Amino acid sequence: MRYVIALGGNALDGGNIAPAAKMIARLHKAGHEVAVTHGNGPQVGELATIESKSLAVLTAQTEAEIGLMIENSIPGAMESTATVITRSIVDPMDRAFRNPSKPIGKVLSTKEADSLRKKGTSVANTLNGPRRVVPSPIPARVLEASFIAALLKSGYIVICGGGGGVPVSVQGGALRYQDAVIDKDRASAVIAKELKADRLVILTTVDGAYVNYGRKSQRKVKRISSVELGVMLDEGEFEEGSMAPKVEACIDFVDSTGKPAVIGSLAKPEDAIRMSNVTVVTV
Ligand code: ADP
Ligand code: MG
Repeated sequence: MRYVIALGGNALDGGNIAPAAKMIARLHKAGHEVAVTHGNGPQVGELATIESKSLAVLTAQTEAEIGLMIENSIPGAMESTATVITRSIVDPMDRAFRNPSKPIGKVLSTKEADSLRKKGTSVANTLNGPRRVVPSPIPARVLEASFIAALLKSGYIVICGGGGGVPVSVQGGALRYQDAVIDKDRASAVIAKELKADRLVILTTVDGAYVNYGRKSQRKVKRISSVELGVMLDEGEFEEGSMAPKVEACIDFVDSTGKPAVIGSLAKPEDAIRMSNVTVVTV
Protein backbone atom coordinates (compact mmCIF):
# COMPACT_ATOMS: atom_id res chain seq x y z
CA MET A 1 0.00 0.00 0.00
CA ARG A 2 1.05 3.57 -0.58
CA TYR A 3 0.41 5.84 2.41
CA VAL A 4 0.57 9.60 2.77
CA ILE A 5 0.82 10.42 6.48
CA ALA A 6 0.46 14.03 7.66
CA LEU A 7 1.95 14.97 11.03
CA GLY A 8 0.48 17.90 12.96
CA GLY A 9 2.64 20.82 14.04
CA ASN A 10 2.12 20.07 17.70
CA ALA A 11 4.11 16.85 17.63
CA LEU A 12 7.00 18.69 16.04
CA ASP A 13 6.89 21.56 18.50
CA GLY A 14 7.80 19.96 21.81
CA GLY A 15 5.26 17.15 21.46
CA ASN A 16 5.99 13.45 21.19
CA ILE A 17 6.72 12.20 17.69
CA ALA A 18 7.96 8.76 18.83
CA PRO A 19 4.68 6.80 18.43
CA ALA A 20 4.15 8.08 14.87
CA ALA A 21 7.81 7.48 13.98
CA LYS A 22 7.56 3.89 15.25
CA MET A 23 4.40 3.29 13.21
CA ILE A 24 6.07 4.69 10.08
CA ALA A 25 9.05 2.36 10.61
CA ARG A 26 6.71 -0.62 11.03
CA LEU A 27 4.76 0.13 7.84
CA HIS A 28 7.99 0.55 5.88
CA LYS A 29 9.42 -2.72 7.22
CA ALA A 30 6.21 -4.47 6.21
CA GLY A 31 6.85 -3.39 2.62
CA HIS A 32 4.52 -0.40 2.37
CA GLU A 33 5.42 2.90 0.71
CA VAL A 34 5.27 5.88 3.07
CA ALA A 35 5.37 9.59 2.29
CA VAL A 36 5.29 11.85 5.34
CA THR A 37 4.10 15.45 5.30
CA HIS A 38 4.13 17.93 8.18
CA GLY A 39 3.18 21.42 9.32
CA ASN A 40 5.47 24.34 10.17
CA GLY A 41 3.26 27.07 11.67
CA PRO A 42 5.10 27.56 14.97
CA GLN A 43 8.54 27.16 13.39
CA VAL A 44 8.08 29.44 10.37
CA GLY A 45 6.52 32.07 12.63
CA GLU A 46 9.54 31.96 14.92
CA LEU A 47 11.96 32.30 11.97
CA ALA A 48 9.96 35.24 10.62
CA THR A 49 10.59 37.15 13.86
CA ILE A 50 14.37 36.95 13.33
CA GLU A 51 14.80 37.03 9.56
CA SER A 52 13.02 39.29 7.12
CA LYS A 53 13.07 36.88 4.17
CA SER A 54 10.19 35.69 2.04
CA LEU A 55 8.00 33.13 3.83
CA ALA A 56 8.79 30.87 0.85
CA VAL A 57 12.49 30.82 1.78
CA LEU A 58 11.73 30.45 5.47
CA THR A 59 9.42 27.52 4.69
CA ALA A 60 12.27 25.84 2.80
CA GLN A 61 14.43 26.29 5.91
CA THR A 62 11.77 24.65 8.10
CA GLU A 63 11.39 21.80 5.59
CA ALA A 64 15.09 21.03 5.96
CA GLU A 65 15.14 21.27 9.73
CA ILE A 66 11.88 19.46 10.49
CA GLY A 67 12.51 16.92 7.71
CA LEU A 68 15.85 16.02 9.25
CA MET A 69 14.26 15.76 12.69
CA ILE A 70 11.60 13.37 11.38
CA GLU A 71 14.23 11.31 9.50
CA ASN A 72 16.30 10.99 12.66
CA SER A 73 13.32 9.93 14.74
CA ILE A 74 12.32 6.92 12.59
CA PRO A 75 13.88 3.88 14.27
CA GLY A 76 16.07 1.59 12.14
CA ALA A 77 15.71 3.70 8.98
CA MET A 78 19.03 5.53 9.02
CA GLU A 79 19.77 4.86 5.35
CA SER A 80 16.28 4.68 3.96
CA THR A 81 14.87 8.17 4.50
CA ALA A 82 14.92 11.21 2.23
CA THR A 83 13.67 14.74 2.74
CA VAL A 84 12.48 16.47 -0.40
CA ILE A 85 12.34 20.27 -0.51
CA THR A 86 8.95 20.58 -2.14
CA ARG A 87 7.55 23.47 -4.19
CA SER A 88 3.80 24.01 -4.35
CA ILE A 89 2.35 25.95 -7.26
CA VAL A 90 -0.09 28.68 -6.22
CA ASP A 91 -2.01 31.31 -8.16
CA PRO A 92 -0.49 34.77 -7.53
CA MET A 93 -4.02 36.18 -7.90
CA ASP A 94 -5.40 33.84 -5.20
CA ARG A 95 -7.81 35.81 -2.98
CA ALA A 96 -5.82 34.61 0.03
CA PHE A 97 -3.14 37.19 -0.75
CA ARG A 98 -5.63 39.93 0.10
CA ASN A 99 -7.06 38.07 3.09
CA PRO A 100 -4.30 36.77 5.37
CA SER A 101 -5.86 33.96 7.44
CA LYS A 102 -3.25 31.45 8.53
CA PRO A 103 -1.90 31.97 12.06
CA ILE A 104 1.85 31.46 12.41
CA GLY A 105 4.21 31.76 15.38
CA LYS A 106 3.27 32.07 19.01
CA VAL A 107 0.31 33.70 20.70
CA LEU A 108 1.17 37.40 21.20
CA SER A 109 0.65 39.75 24.11
CA THR A 110 -1.65 42.72 23.44
CA LYS A 111 1.43 44.98 23.37
CA GLU A 112 3.26 42.78 20.84
CA ALA A 113 0.12 42.55 18.71
CA ASP A 114 -0.30 46.36 18.69
CA SER A 115 3.30 47.00 17.73
CA LEU A 116 3.09 44.48 14.86
CA ARG A 117 -0.16 46.02 13.62
CA LYS A 118 1.53 49.45 13.59
CA LYS A 119 4.23 48.02 11.30
CA GLY A 120 1.51 46.87 8.91
CA THR A 121 1.66 43.18 9.83
CA SER A 122 -1.69 41.36 9.90
CA VAL A 123 -2.69 40.05 13.31
CA ALA A 124 -5.91 38.14 14.06
CA ASN A 125 -7.59 37.24 17.32
CA THR A 126 -7.62 33.44 17.32
CA LEU A 127 -9.40 31.31 19.95
CA ASN A 128 -6.12 31.25 21.90
CA GLY A 129 -5.29 34.97 21.55
CA PRO A 130 -3.74 37.31 18.97
CA ARG A 131 -1.40 35.77 16.39
CA ARG A 132 0.26 36.95 13.23
CA VAL A 133 -1.69 35.79 10.17
CA VAL A 134 -0.34 35.33 6.65
CA PRO A 135 -1.85 34.54 3.24
CA SER A 136 -2.56 30.84 2.71
CA PRO A 137 -3.25 30.25 -0.99
CA ILE A 138 -4.58 26.97 -2.37
CA PRO A 139 -1.89 24.67 -3.81
CA ALA A 140 -2.65 23.43 -7.35
CA ARG A 141 0.13 20.85 -7.57
CA VAL A 142 3.66 20.12 -6.36
CA LEU A 143 6.61 20.13 -8.74
CA GLU A 144 8.36 17.18 -7.08
CA ALA A 145 5.53 14.63 -7.38
CA SER A 146 7.29 12.31 -9.84
CA PHE A 147 10.57 12.59 -7.92
CA ILE A 148 8.77 11.63 -4.71
CA ALA A 149 7.11 8.69 -6.47
CA ALA A 150 10.49 7.49 -7.76
CA LEU A 151 11.99 7.63 -4.27
CA LEU A 152 9.01 5.70 -2.85
CA LYS A 153 9.41 3.03 -5.54
CA SER A 154 13.10 2.75 -4.64
CA GLY A 155 12.16 1.96 -1.06
CA TYR A 156 12.71 5.30 0.65
CA ILE A 157 10.52 6.80 3.33
CA VAL A 158 10.01 10.30 1.91
CA ILE A 159 9.42 13.43 3.97
CA CYS A 160 7.87 16.00 1.67
CA GLY A 161 5.42 18.88 1.39
CA GLY A 162 6.58 20.27 4.73
CA GLY A 163 4.74 23.40 5.80
CA GLY A 164 2.48 22.90 2.79
CA GLY A 165 5.46 23.23 0.45
CA VAL A 166 7.40 26.30 -0.66
CA PRO A 167 4.83 28.56 -2.33
CA VAL A 168 5.84 29.47 -5.88
CA SER A 169 4.02 30.71 -8.94
CA VAL A 170 4.92 30.56 -12.60
CA GLN A 171 5.28 34.08 -13.98
CA GLY A 172 6.80 34.90 -17.34
CA GLY A 173 8.11 31.35 -17.63
CA ALA A 174 10.03 31.59 -14.36
CA LEU A 175 9.29 30.54 -10.81
CA ARG A 176 8.60 33.31 -8.31
CA TYR A 177 8.53 32.92 -4.54
CA GLN A 178 5.27 33.89 -2.92
CA ASP A 179 5.14 35.40 0.56
CA ALA A 180 2.67 32.93 2.06
CA VAL A 181 2.33 29.73 4.07
CA ILE A 182 0.24 26.96 2.51
CA ASP A 183 -1.96 24.82 4.73
CA LYS A 184 -0.22 21.47 5.19
CA ASP A 185 -3.50 19.53 5.12
CA ARG A 186 -4.40 20.97 1.71
CA ALA A 187 -0.91 20.23 0.38
CA SER A 188 -1.10 16.71 1.80
CA ALA A 189 -4.29 16.07 -0.17
CA VAL A 190 -2.65 17.37 -3.35
CA ILE A 191 0.39 15.14 -2.81
CA ALA A 192 -1.74 12.09 -1.94
CA LYS A 193 -3.77 12.60 -5.13
CA GLU A 194 -0.72 13.09 -7.32
CA LEU A 195 0.95 10.01 -5.85
CA LYS A 196 -2.27 8.02 -6.29
CA ALA A 197 -1.94 6.99 -2.66
CA ASP A 198 -4.08 4.21 -1.25
CA ARG A 199 -4.65 6.14 1.97
CA LEU A 200 -4.36 9.62 3.40
CA VAL A 201 -3.77 9.58 7.17
CA ILE A 202 -3.88 12.88 9.04
CA LEU A 203 -2.50 12.69 12.58
CA THR A 204 -3.14 15.53 15.01
CA THR A 205 -3.76 16.36 18.67
CA VAL A 206 -7.30 14.95 18.71
CA ASP A 207 -8.42 11.42 17.77
CA GLY A 208 -10.85 12.48 15.07
CA ALA A 209 -13.23 15.14 13.84
CA TYR A 210 -16.03 15.88 16.31
CA VAL A 211 -19.49 17.36 15.97
CA ASN A 212 -20.47 19.83 18.72
CA TYR A 213 -16.75 20.03 19.49
CA GLY A 214 -15.92 21.49 22.89
CA ARG A 215 -19.50 21.05 24.15
CA LYS A 216 -20.86 18.43 26.52
CA SER A 217 -22.69 16.83 23.63
CA GLN A 218 -19.55 16.43 21.48
CA ARG A 219 -19.18 13.13 19.66
CA LYS A 220 -16.59 11.73 17.35
CA VAL A 221 -17.48 11.26 13.71
CA LYS A 222 -16.60 7.60 13.05
CA ARG A 223 -17.16 6.07 9.61
CA ILE A 224 -18.71 8.59 7.24
CA SER A 225 -19.16 9.22 3.52
CA SER A 226 -17.47 12.26 1.98
CA VAL A 227 -20.91 13.60 1.01
CA GLU A 228 -22.27 13.43 4.57
CA LEU A 229 -19.07 14.93 5.96
CA GLY A 230 -19.37 17.74 3.41
CA VAL A 231 -22.79 18.59 4.83
CA MET A 232 -21.34 18.84 8.36
CA LEU A 233 -18.51 21.01 7.01
CA ASP A 234 -21.02 23.37 5.38
CA GLU A 235 -22.93 23.51 8.67
CA GLY A 236 -19.78 24.89 10.31
CA GLU A 237 -19.00 21.94 12.61
CA PHE A 238 -15.27 22.24 12.05
CA GLU A 239 -13.16 25.25 13.01
CA GLU A 240 -11.54 27.23 10.20
CA GLY A 241 -7.75 26.98 10.18
CA SER A 242 -7.59 23.82 12.30
CA MET A 243 -10.11 20.98 11.78
CA ALA A 244 -11.85 22.35 8.67
CA PRO A 245 -8.75 22.04 6.41
CA LYS A 246 -8.28 18.41 7.54
CA VAL A 247 -11.89 17.59 6.73
CA GLU A 248 -11.58 19.36 3.36
CA ALA A 249 -8.39 17.45 2.60
CA CYS A 250 -10.10 14.12 3.35
CA ILE A 251 -13.12 14.95 1.18
CA ASP A 252 -10.86 16.13 -1.66
CA PHE A 253 -8.75 12.93 -1.53
CA VAL A 254 -11.68 10.53 -1.21
CA ASP A 255 -13.70 12.17 -4.00
CA SER A 256 -10.85 12.09 -6.46
CA THR A 257 -9.34 8.66 -5.66
CA GLY A 258 -12.18 6.62 -4.17
CA LYS A 259 -9.76 5.55 -1.42
CA PRO A 260 -10.31 6.17 2.32
CA ALA A 261 -8.91 9.05 4.36
CA VAL A 262 -8.42 9.03 8.12
CA ILE A 263 -8.13 11.64 10.88
CA GLY A 264 -6.58 10.23 14.05
CA SER A 265 -4.35 10.97 16.97
CA LEU A 266 -0.56 11.35 17.00
CA ALA A 267 -0.61 9.62 20.37
CA LYS A 268 -2.29 6.48 18.94
CA PRO A 269 -1.14 6.26 15.33
CA GLU A 270 -1.82 2.50 15.05
CA ASP A 271 -5.53 3.21 15.60
CA ALA A 272 -5.44 5.38 12.49
CA ILE A 273 -3.75 2.63 10.48
CA ARG A 274 -6.29 0.03 11.73
CA MET A 275 -9.02 2.60 11.06
CA SER A 276 -10.53 1.89 14.47
CA ASN A 277 -11.80 4.53 16.87
CA VAL A 278 -10.88 7.37 14.47
CA THR A 279 -12.65 9.36 11.76
CA VAL A 280 -12.72 7.34 8.54
CA VAL A 281 -13.95 9.04 5.37
CA THR A 282 -15.06 6.87 2.47
CA VAL A 283 -16.92 7.33 -0.82
P1 ADP B 1 -2.32 20.38 13.42
O1 ADP B 1 -1.05 20.96 13.88
O2 ADP B 1 -2.36 18.89 13.58
O3 ADP B 1 -2.75 20.83 12.03
P2 ADP B 1 -4.51 22.01 14.43
O4 ADP B 1 -4.39 22.73 15.74
O5 ADP B 1 -4.44 22.81 13.18
O6 ADP B 1 -3.41 20.86 14.48
O7 ADP B 1 -5.87 21.19 14.40
C1 ADP B 1 -6.24 20.31 15.46
C2 ADP B 1 -7.14 21.05 16.45
O8 ADP B 1 -8.43 21.30 15.88
C3 ADP B 1 -7.46 20.29 17.72
O9 ADP B 1 -6.48 20.47 18.69
C4 ADP B 1 -8.82 20.87 18.14
O10 ADP B 1 -8.66 21.75 19.22
C5 ADP B 1 -9.29 21.69 16.94
N1 ADP B 1 -10.67 21.47 16.51
C6 ADP B 1 -11.49 22.46 16.08
N2 ADP B 1 -12.69 22.00 15.72
C7 ADP B 1 -12.67 20.66 15.94
C8 ADP B 1 -13.62 19.61 15.75
N3 ADP B 1 -14.84 19.87 15.26
N4 ADP B 1 -13.25 18.35 16.07
C9 ADP B 1 -12.03 18.09 16.54
N5 ADP B 1 -11.07 19.04 16.76
C10 ADP B 1 -11.37 20.31 16.44
MG1 MG C 1 -3.20 22.80 11.44
